[in-house]
Amino acid sequence: MSKSILHDYKKFDCYLCRMFGDYSIKGGMQEHHIFGGPNRGLSEKYGLKVKLCFKHHGQRGPDDVHRPDLNGYSDLLKQKGQRAFEEKYSHELFMEVFGKNYL
Ligand SMILES: [Zn+2]
Ligand SMILES: [Zn+2]
Repeated sequence: MSKSILHDYKKFDCYLCRMFGDYSIKGGMQEHHIFGGPNRGLSEKYGLKVKLCFKHHGQRGPDDVHRPDLNGYSDLLKQKGQRAFEEKYSHELFMEVFGKNYL
């Protein structure tokens, strides 16, 4: 299993909660691959994934990253993911691998 290039997560560190300054401890931590579908394997390979709490992943509620109809978290994570990738590798490689600019 690859390591996330976005954060060095500890047991209860939800990437989105931390981003919004919420330090309360939540459960149900799950791994979210930033670029899903056919790009899920590439997300795994390059560490483009984050740990999210139950509020942000899995419940399909208003704050779930998989509800792009209700919030902008999916796009936000794609931007963060692309930036992290480009810091580690390059913009050219990102375009070559994912074929789309999210910034
Ligand atoms: Zn969270
Ligand atoms: Zn997910």
